[in-house]
Order: sequence, then C-alpha cells, then structure tokens
Amino acid sequence: MSKMFNDIASQVKISAKYLKLSESLVKKLIKPQQILQAKLNIGAGKNFLAYRVQFNNARGPFKGGIRYHPQVNLGEVKALSLLMAIKCAVVDIPFGGGKGGVKVDPKKLSKKELEKLSRAWVRAFFKYLGPDKDVPAPDVYTNEQIMAWMLAEYEKIAGKKSPAFITGKPLNKGGSPGRDIATAQGAFYILEEALKKIKFKNKKPTVAVQGFGNAGYNISQILNKAGFKIIAAADSAGGVLDLKNSGMLPRDLMETKLKNGLARGCYCRRSVCDCENFQKADNKKLLETPCDILVLAALENQITLRNANNIKAKIVLEIANGAVTKEADKKLAKRKILVLPDILANAGGVTVSYFEWLQNKKKETWSKQKVLNQLKTKMTIAINQVWQVKESYKINLRTAAYILALGRIVEAMHAKKPLDKPVRPRAHGREVGAYRQDTTNK
Ligand code: GLU
Repeated sequence: MSKMFNDIASQVKISAKYLKLSESLVKKLIKPQQILQAKLNIGAGKNFLAYRVQFNNARGPFKGGIRYHPQVNLGEVKALSLLMAIKCAVVDIPFGGGKGGVKVDPKKLSKKELEKLSRAWVRAFFKYLGPDKDVPAPDVYTNEQIMAWMLAEYEKIAGKKSPAFITGKPLNKGGSPGRDIATAQGAFYILEEALKKIKFKNKKPTVAVQGFGNAGYNISQILNKAGFKIIAAADSAGGVLDLKNSGMLPRDLMETKLKNGLARGCYCRRSVCDCENFQKADNKKLLETPCDILVLAALENQITLRNANNIKAKIVLEIANGAVTKEADKKLAKRKILVLPDILANAGGVTVSYFEWLQNKKKETWSKQKVLNQLKTKMTIAINQVWQVKESYKINLRTAAYILALGRIVEAMHAKKPLDKPVRPRAHGREVGAYRQDTTNK
C-alpha cells in the first residue's frame, strides 16, 4: 500500500480518537466503496492502466479529479480518493470522495491519442459515473479540454445532455467562471485568514513556489498582486532563485518557462537580462530557501523526514495533495512551522467544482464575482471552524481538519442508517471489472 495512503489512514485513526469512534467505524472510513480498474487501448498497440476509486458517498455523490501521470498507481489513487472524501467534508460540500487516474505520460501522446484515451476512460467506467453517482474533474496533467472530451463521450453513451456529469469544463460547455483559478484563489483565502490569525507582521512576505503548473502559476499571480514577493520558483525540472529578494513577476517567469525552461536559472525581465541576480535552484534548494511562505504546488511526498529539519519557511501552504509526509508534519509542528494542510489549502478547486455542478443542475450561470465571493465565504468558514477545533484540542490544523470532516461524514452515515443499526456501506471494497479490456478504438 502506498506511503500516502498509510499516512492518511493513520491521520484518520488519530483524529477518530478525539471523536471516540469505534474501531469498526474507523475501518469502514478507510475502506473504499469501490475500486474500478481497466486497461485502456488507444490503438497502435498502446495500452494504459486506468483507475477510479470511490470512497464514502454518505454525504453525496463521489467527487474528485482524474490524474494522468506516469507514476499513477492504485495505492496513490486510493489515497487521493480518501483525501477527497475528507476534503469535501472540511468545506462542507455535499460530496463523497473519488479519484481517477491513468498511468501515462501525457506529454508523449498526440492530441488525437489523448482524446482517445480520455474517451476510453469514460467508456470503461460509464456505469459507475453520473451527476448523482460520481462526478469527475481535472487533476495533475488533465485540463478543461480533456473534461470536454469526457463529457462528449458520456453524453454520447447516455444519449442526452448531462453537463453536471463532470466539472472543470470549458465555459462554453457549462464550465464555471473562476474554476481555472479556484484552487489557487482558495489557497490564498486560507493563507490570508491564517496570516490574520497569527497576526503576521511582514506586509510584503517572501514566497518560494514549488511547482509552476496551473495552481503554482495562479497562486504566484494572486500573491504578487497582493504585494507578496516571489523569490523562488521551480517546476519539475528545476528553477530560479532571486538572490536580491526583490520579487519576480509570475508572468515573466511563465514566459521564461515556456521559452527556455525555468531550470536554466534564467529570469529575464522582458528585454533586459539581469541573470547575475538570479541563480539556478534545484528542488532541494527551492524547498530549503529562507522565506516566509513555502508554497507546495507540485506532487506528493515533498517534505519528508529527509528535509523537514532544513525547511526555513515560517508557513507551508500545502496546495499539492499529500506534499508533507506524516513524519515531516510532526517535525514541522515541533519547529513551530505552521502547515496549512492540503485538505484545507487546496479545497477551493472542488468547492468551485461544486458551484459548477450546482449551476449545471439549476441551469444557471453565475458571474465570476459571485463564484469568488461564495468561494471566499466557504473557505473562510472552513478555516475558522478548523481553527476553533485546533484551539480547543491544542492540536495542529491537519488533525483539526480531519476531526471536523470525520464528524460530518459519520453524522451523514448515521443519518442514512439509524445509530441502533450497524452502519454497513454498500459494495464494501468490492473490486469491479478488474482489468476490463476497453478495445474500442474511436
Ligand atoms: N483535483 C482537485 C482536487 O484534488 C479538484 C477535484 C474536483 O474538482 O472534483 O481537489
């Protein structure tokens, strides 16, 4: 089983103790309701393993993204799915947990092949998906174009329009304004509120950003506009460090990334190249950069026992799911580094997915302002509730967020099945259609 799954399961166990949940209930909470696997064939002898894992729909349909990455495996998808169930409960939106994945390097596929793969994923799991069953969304290396292909395939099989089947769609296919920046915007609202709570004095905090994809880039933009200084940024290949701490412009960083890659340690302000003030930063250097806020927006397992003692940030904003391991979390807490945990920090994405789903169901279109206002309200309520739990038990924010979430999930389970009857989730851990072959090649 994956390290991330074990970490999340043990966090569930720790938090369950505060709620005095029985052992058998805890076992149910960490067991998926369904594990779906398939082999997707896109022609030319190309096959890819695909997954969907569904966790606890007591609060509503399963919900969560689909990841395309060469390292995708069942353990990871299971971990991320459980995390989704908890995340949705933290921000109090009516969904359970879901996660999908394909073990593939999408950069090696042509556009046509990506489309075939995305449509094949929907065909393989169609029976288990739907607006009131399981609602997918984007995740690492999937985007609105992929959501549009998936929606088209779903509607083709269903024989009717069904925009609420998937979120993170393009605007002209029923997507929500603001969904593209929602994860980063939500993270910003959480950070803003946390800074107020700890009475953070520095008006121009310095920031190091690990990961320069959608979330990393957008949070850099938002932080830069709010007066924070981006002093380090890196993507998977490496990055650049601002030696003078004067602050880099995210737009220029993106231009540099697209032109030559950040890994060259070059940061050219438009026409003038002042690279002597900048330095190459590999991931190790970036994570260990002295700064006020370290933004983790890449992948899981980034702060571990290996580097936890070298982190020099005051606050860690964990936008990537599972970026801080269980052991590292303890070390950071001991060192009084405030970790804003994934299930709170990145919940803005799924929250706006919920708004998108609502708009589709009600046949409404909200303005971007309305979406962002509602997002701010949701995120502010969530961090305040989590903070209250943290204060009353004198625990870290992660444990507090899990306590809040588990309380809500268990309440919903009990509401479905009265307390005097044992709670028996359906299709417990059942494996459906193991390696179902999808050979349709359209
Ligand atoms: N993939 C995102 C997450 O991990 C968003 C999921 C969604 O919108 O359903 O939270």
